[in-house]
Amino acid sequence: MQIFYGKAALMDYLSTLKTTNSSIGFVPTMGALHEGHQSLMLQSTKENDITVVSIFVNPTQFNNPEDLEKYPRTLDADIIKISNINPNIIAFAPTVHDMYEGKTLSQPFDFDGLENKMEGKFRPGHFDGVGTIVKRLFEIVKPTRAYFGEKDFQQVQIIKKMVEKNHLQVTIVVCPIHREINNLAMSSRNERLTLHEREEAGIIYKILNGAKAKFSNNSAEKTTQWVKNQFKKNKIFTLEYFEIADEKTLTTCKRKSKNKKYRAFIAVFVNNIRLIDTISLN
Ligand code: AMP
Repeated sequence: MQIFYGKAALMDYLSTLKTTNSSIGFVPTMGALHEGHQSLMLQSTKENDITVVSIFVNPTQFNNPEDLEKYPRTLDADIIKISNINPNIIAFAPTVHDMYEGKTLSQPFDFDGLENKMEGKFRPGHFDGVGTIVKRLFEIVKPTRAYFGEKDFQQVQIIKKMVEKNHLQVTIVVCPIHREINNLAMSSRNERLTLHEREEAGIIYKILNGAKAKFSNNSAEKTTQWVKNQFKKNKIFTLEYFEIADEKTLTTCKRKSKNKKYRAFIAVFVNNIRLIDTISLN
């Protein structure tokens, strides 16, 4: 399996591999790979001649220094997982210095307001960091298709907006959420939960499903209040936000409209570990 630690070497290698017609699938990740990441890689290998997976814990998208410091880093295990999926996958694990050339700063982006809602509101600067790194990675890998998970739905909308605004020649492919047996959305941060917290965290999806049922014959406001009440009763999890929003614009649903698609978004804390999830309400 090929693994590159620097962008120049990867770019050289890809330029020798890329014949005029060969397609490149790209899966950006922050490592600590799980089955959710693996499903993105599998889809990419099915749809492209070449697949590149990046493993890079991007400092500029973390607003909380403790979250950055404690983010799991398991490169050796990740490489084994990637080669087990397909030994032809190319891994890219650059250093912070290689990606940021001594200036670990993000550039400001205008995503037409998408960046100010939910994750953007609670994690200031997060989407500038995401935009900066994804744009840089796209410039290095020059993918035909890039694979992102629906779990980070707002991130997907942001990336699509960046592609549209910058006229980038890449197709964004959105992949379904992979869940643990208790329906907790898979996440690298789950590694930091105790066994008990991880088992109990199934409640997040249960409440999301409950909200979906409520929303079918109640207003967004009533549904949101119901969710807040569920978390008030819970001793382990603290609700950061719950929002029902228009899938396209991510604006909060005030009054239901028949021709709009809605989605619920949630962020909760357990013992300083932040978990997010989402569900379609249509
Ligand atoms: P991350 O390493 O958390 O930055 O995630 C890398 C990519 O994997 C992102 O596009 C995520 O949305 C996606 N991803 C993360 N968790 C899951 C999951 N449980 N199911 C499917 N995709 C996921």
